[in-house]
Amino acid sequence: MARPLVGLDVGGTKVLGVVIDPDAPGTPLAEHRAATPATVEELVEVLATTVTELQEACSALGPSPAAIGVGLPGVIDHDGVLRGAPNLRHAIDQPVRPALEARIGAPVWFGNDADCALWAEAQVGAGRGAQHLVLAALGTGIGGAVMVDGGLARGMHGYAGEPGHMVVERDGIACPCGRRGCWERYASGAGLARIARDAARAGRATAVLARAGGDPEAIRGEHVGAAADAGDAEAVGLFAEFAAWVAIGVGNLFNLLDPEMVILGGGLADRADHYLDEVRRLVPGEVLGAGAHRATRVVVAELGPSAGAIGAALLAGRAARRVG
Ligand SMILES: [Zn+2]
Repeated sequence: MARPLVGLDVGGTKVLGVVIDPDAPGTPLAEHRAATPATVEELVEVLATTVTELQEACSALGPSPAAIGVGLPGVIDHDGVLRGAPNLRHAIDQPVRPALEARIGAPVWFGNDADCALWAEAQVGAGRGAQHLVLAALGTGIGGAVMVDGGLARGMHGYAGEPGHMVVERDGIACPCGRRGCWERYASGAGLARIARDAARAGRATAVLARAGGDPEAIRGEHVGAAADAGDAEAVGLFAEFAAWVAIGVGNLFNLLDPEMVILGGGLADRADHYLDEVRRLVPGEVLGAGAHRATRVVVAELGPSAGAIGAALLAGRAARRVG
């Protein structure tokens, strides 16, 4: 086989590492999981340990890895330094990459986790063969990435492709970014939970409320999902309300970038059966020229939680080939 690639995806709660065969990257050959630590020193240690474990897995397979990539949940500047990261604040502006490279004695490619996930989906997932793609990763917040003409759009400072902070309602709900009305306050897991809490406080969504122990403040997105799974009509209605918010942002993305498709990923991709049809029904109404002259395909990511790690490995391999 070709020399394998190692990819790591650093999430808010866990680090997932994979070994892939570049000729068949969709199914990792080995995986390693660890908890995301709370300090930058521990982060370097966990990344180093994960890489070492995966290097050993590679040597068991034969050749040593051709490249190592790490996807991080934040804005990565053109020097590979993390600049904005609400879920990894301790690592902002810190020399994580040089510290990791010194620790493991090998070069490491760093990139944004959503860029990695989109790259993987474009190579071996939902966006195979497409040249113009947008990923909206609906999780606790909304991550995103943009592919134009087959390349990832990074922007001047690395901030391109952050659709979660498009404002969809002036003077709307406060966002951790400091502004109001950002899309991710409405079309994320947090947004779904808020829709359900508002309904419960208004005396609706009784089945959802029961799953949260009767306390509206305790309602989470998963309570809505579980009630909808059980066929609760009110929970299904909450997902329809949620879908309308998803459709507004997806429509904005089509209007701005004219992608071949918008890929919905993130943790809420697992719940797409409860809102995807409604999103597909609503999006054309949000998009200039939809229907007669342009398609507005909305699809669900195919690679699941491994997408970021697979993409980090593929992008690291690509960068190594360019240098080599
Ligand atoms: Zn925001």
